[in-house]
Amino acid sequence: AHQRDIRNFSIVAHIDHGKSTLADRILEMTDTVAKRDMQDQILDNMDLERERGITIKLNAVELTYDAKDGRTYEFHLIDTPGHVDFSYEVSRSLAACEGAVLVVDAAQGVEAQTLANVYLAIDDNLEILPVINKIDLPSAEPEKVRKEIEDVIGIDASDAVMASAKKGIGIEDLLEQIVNKVPAPDGDLEAPLRALIFDSIYDDYRGVVLSVRLFEGTVKPGDKIRLMNSGAEYEVTEVGVNSPKPIKRDQLIAGEVGYITASIKDIEDTRVGDTVTNAANPAEKALPGYREMAPMVYAGLYPTDNAKYQDLREALEKLKLNDAALEFEPETSQALGFGFRCGFLGMLHMDVVQERLEREFNLDLITTAPSVTYHANLADGTVKEVENPSEMPDVAAIKTIEEPYVKATIMTPNDYVGAVMELCQRKRGQFVTMEYLDDYRVNVIYKMPLSEIIFDFFDKLKSSTKGYASLDYELDGYRESDLVKIDILLNGDKVDALSFISHRQFAEKRGRDIAVKLKNIIPRQNFEIPIQAAIGAKIIARTTIKAYRKDVTARIHTGDPDRRAKLLEKQKRGKERMKSVGTVDIPQEAFMAVLQTD
Ligand code: GDP
Ligand code: MG
Repeated sequence: AHQRDIRNFSIVAHIDHGKSTLADRILEMTDTVAKRDMQDQILDNMDLERERGITIKLNAVELTYDAKDGRTYEFHLIDTPGHVDFSYEVSRSLAACEGAVLVVDAAQGVEAQTLANVYLAIDDNLEILPVINKIDLPSAEPEKVRKEIEDVIGIDASDAVMASAKKGIGIEDLLEQIVNKVPAPDGDLEAPLRALIFDSIYDDYRGVVLSVRLFEGTVKPGDKIRLMNSGAEYEVTEVGVNSPKPIKRDQLIAGEVGYITASIKDIEDTRVGDTVTNAANPAEKALPGYREMAPMVYAGLYPTDNAKYQDLREALEKLKLNDAALEFEPETSQALGFGFRCGFLGMLHMDVVQERLEREFNLDLITTAPSVTYHANLADGTVKEVENPSEMPDVAAIKTIEEPYVKATIMTPNDYVGAVMELCQRKRGQFVTMEYLDDYRVNVIYKMPLSEIIFDFFDKLKSSTKGYASLDYELDGYRESDLVKIDILLNGDKVDALSFISHRQFAEKRGRDIAVKLKNIIPRQNFEIPIQAAIGAKIIARTTIKAYRKDVTARIHTGDPDRRAKLLEKQKRGKERMKSVGTVDIPQEAFMAVLQTD
């Protein structure tokens, strides 16, 4: 195609406002996918995405559109996730585009991630096309939402597309706006190749498949390419586009989005954000790339079977190609053996990584309770970064402990301000300010410890506001807090993987709660197991798991066969994720028990 006929755009929105459904309609309208192959949320092609009904990965597809002006356009559409944990995927997609379609639910209006995502697009100087979706809903208030987009985001919404992705309304209007308003890419076709790697995936047959946006030059099979950051060189075996199945091309040109394969087997050579250039005619400077994401939470990942340590390492390396925000380094635990300390952007990210490792790489894993990074200011004047609670130095050696704080912005309807403030206060939040966005919507801003917000805050927020409040947060430095480490002893032995950090105020209660929880979670064995919680040498709680195992189903008096089957199933699954620590078998659930106390 000629550059003037290319349009590159992303779809961004708050979660559930209808991005993926809109992408479905666009694919249908442009006959990209045959009717018989069409299925809902077709770009969410991971099993995990389909089961959970959320988009986890960005996804780039090419489609052709016959516009009203009589020309045929080549569109590259990138669908993106809406959840805050995956905003790194969004920012990377946007760097490959000239335009962003901003989907806003006509009944829900602007929400926290609508703002966060649209600001990313504005920062990247993209043309923004607002779409007010779900106008078919009885509760839709499109005019109110139009005004909200103008007042709250500050962009012109007079031409906003009125759409129902579900019913297929407004799709053609949107496609025409993409043609007329999103600028065509430019970029010198004769210049040395500069292509931005915005994603990658490992394929057993083809090696690393690079998703790229070409900014200058061209690339074709047989070309020698160089990855500018690592300096590694390869011969291109194939170039093409996804539509959504891969389609080979003779070449890719500046302005296009597509893929490159070059039998890249050495995973370390590739990094998302790096620039691909031509080895014989290299560009002088790499493209700006991306800023590295700092993980928010850390947790240990261990194979249930110690012999699988190398497999886990390989799996993490391969997964990192497709999940640029994932970080890991080797870690040893007395209790769990060899594993990795992994950094994640949030709890959902952590959950998704564990599931992808288990499904895509056939591993059985134990994850330890997530923790933030603490700073321990030691008596000798040095500072120790503590990513793992068990590594917190001895109380005697510590002067003070600092923990990361966030600035949390909670957008909520008026009616729930009281409930939101109560929740924030309970989570050690400090009120900053409150801003009225319009007559009925408020931004409530708090500074809070990251550790309080990251675990179950979002669920609690949703349940105390009937699902109406939305949340966005950013790191806001470190502050001193009165924190203590709590150790758990089983059978008299400290289990390092069960140690956690708590505010002193909640320490005794949490110690007690966890001792009780563990008693219920850890299966009985043929000997008695004392459980203790301790701060330093001081025991703060004690329970005992009685000896002997009994049939778990014997306790169920209802003759409900369904329930009985479920329980057996649960027990079976629980068994798969079980780790022997000394003489005690500890199920996965036990490592997470610390998260379930209040
Ligand atoms: P995403 O999280 O932004 O990708 O949202 P999805 O496309 O997964 O849609 C979320 C939910 O809203 C799904 O249940 C869709 O069926 C529904 N939905 C999407 N668009 C419309 C629409 O125009 N009208 C109605 N009534 N429902 C819609
Ligand atoms: Mg989606």
